[in-house]
Amino acid sequence: MLGNLKQVRSIVFDLDGTLYKSDGLAKEIQNVAASLVAETRGIPLREGRTLLRNSRKRLAELLEEEPTLTRTCLTLGIEVPEFHRAMQAGVRPEQYLGPDLVLQALLDSLAGEWDLYLYTNNSLPLTEKILALLGVETLFRRIYTIEFNWTPKPDPETLQRILEDIGGPPHSFLFVGDREQVDLKVPQALGIPTLLVSETADLLQIHKILGIIP
Ligand SMILES: [Mg+2]
Repeated sequence: MLGNLKQVRSIVFDLDGTLYKSDGLAKEIQNVAASLVAETRGIPLREGRTLLRNSRKRLAELLEEEPTLTRTCLTLGIEVPEFHRAMQAGVRPEQYLGPDLVLQALLDSLAGEWDLYLYTNNSLPLTEKILALLGVETLFRRIYTIEFNWTPKPDPETLQRILEDIGGPPHSFLFVGDREQVDLKVPQALGIPTLLVSETADLLQIHKILGIIP
């Protein structure tokens, strides 16, 4: 959803699936979640995996949209801090990610003119690790992780707090994410311009829509 983008001052990026894509890392996250479910229920890993899959399916039908992993785990009685403790202990982004020179160049060129922010459902320790691995840890003015409000996206109240913290009217923002429902729907409702990216190469569109390339 794009309107007049001349007033954009602040670009707010999602992290996972937006600034990088990794099937290996995504799989590891699912495995850690399944282990956590199995552990808390005292059931074998296989059953934990099935339970997680079925819960996601049920929740997707109920919400009529694909739920986040955090939300699915919540319905299984796993609180958000517990979920993130398990992720921090079990997920090893260093096995899957390395410097992304194209991403570095893109964000670096944007950072000269716009203030860049990150808003992610991931935790601060993992977010910092991922950004450092990609080589873009110095390019964001502020990062908003789950610790900011302990409520995962999509959440209107957390979004409001972030907008107030950054400051500026709706048209001074551009939200960029890979999941319409999770990253973009709530900002859109406030009249904020958004960009959906399905692969990291799509990020190059930012230059075009912000008018750097005529
Ligand atoms: Mg994402």
